[in-house]
Amino acid sequence: MTSLADLPLRADLVGRTAYGAPQLHVPVTLNVNENTHPVPEEVRADILDRIAAALRGVNRYPDREFTALREALAGYLGHGLAPEQLWAANGSNEVLQHVFQAFGGPGRTLLTFPPTYSMYPNYATTSGTAVLEGRRDEDFGLSAATLAAEIERTRPDIVVIAAPNNPTGTPVALDALAAAYDATDGVLVVDEAYGEFMPDDAPSALTLLPGRPRLAVSRTMSKAFAFAGARLGYLAADPAFVDALRLVRLPYHLSAITQAAALGALAHAPVMLGMVDEIRVQRERTVRGLEALGYRVAPSWTNFLLFGGVEDPKALWQGLLDRGVLIRDLAIPGSLRVSIGTAAETDAFLEAMTALTPVGAR
Ligand SMILES: *Cc1c(COP(=O)(O)O)cnc(C)c1O
Repeated sequence: MTSLADLPLRADLVGRTAYGAPQLHVPVTLNVNENTHPVPEEVRADILDRIAAALRGVNRYPDREFTALREALAGYLGHGLAPEQLWAANGSNEVLQHVFQAFGGPGRTLLTFPPTYSMYPNYATTSGTAVLEGRRDEDFGLSAATLAAEIERTRPDIVVIAAPNNPTGTPVALDALAAAYDATDGVLVVDEAYGEFMPDDAPSALTLLPGRPRLAVSRTMSKAFAFAGARLGYLAADPAFVDALRLVRLPYHLSAITQAAALGALAHAPVMLGMVDEIRVQRERTVRGLEALGYRVAPSWTNFLLFGGVEDPKALWQGLLDRGVLIRDLAIPGSLRVSIGTAAETDAFLEAMTALTPVGAR
């Protein structure tokens, strides 16, 4: 049998393993921060009609510039954004890959702040960009002073900051993001994958865009929007930044079907986001439940929680799985991450946690 070692693989890929959060079929799946509420029936029906219409023209290539979708995304985001400032691709994963293809590459560097989203170093590696790691403050925070100091120390070409951060849930203040922008002469990407879960009065990094042409703010329909399976991510930036991404995308990268589905979902944004408040309620229930069991919970502005004080994370992860509850072990010492699901899923998780937590620890 042929193995990878038998193939003339690119030298920098030798010995690497592929991204792989386990995709297991269990009753309660709380491991990859999906919105566990299904898309409402009325929205599915409209999306189906739009896909049927798109299929009538599917013998032709789709609109390469996804014009209608960029208009809809600009309208959804608000903040005075124009369609020329929007870019989209098959998940924010592909959007971020475009950023690395355009602004990274051999001889260039990424600055990332672990623990954070595990795909950032992956986009760097596959684009030939070297990875530099910055330090965080206590409790996973990132202050303006820390960001400026770490950027001045490392002088990166690309800085990516997840705000709020995954897997910790930690917010990053706007003044800190502005300080990061001022400290770098590279590009700054603020990944707001969880932007819709922030408190309603918390300003988005989108407010920082005017006058900052090296800043991009990325978003996704995969989390709050309950659309992970459709694969649609996007970013907002200066039109010149968007032009840079046009240089590296493959022609017609967004299929007519994807464009139709995303337009359908955006047309029902309030319904699609209707579960966000309910998820916040379940998040607070989960915080209280975990704290009552003696765990430390990091403050979260997202639809997941990182909890510490776990004596044996592997054993607890397996114990939960044996009870039909899948969460995530990110190899952060003493910690596990759980996504927030429905009320019933929260019950199941907290019941299993109660059964698995030694009474002495409570
Ligand atoms: C889930 C996630 C994404 C990726 O989302 P897709 O749009 O599904 O590719 C990006 N960034 C962070 C921080 C995430 O947690």
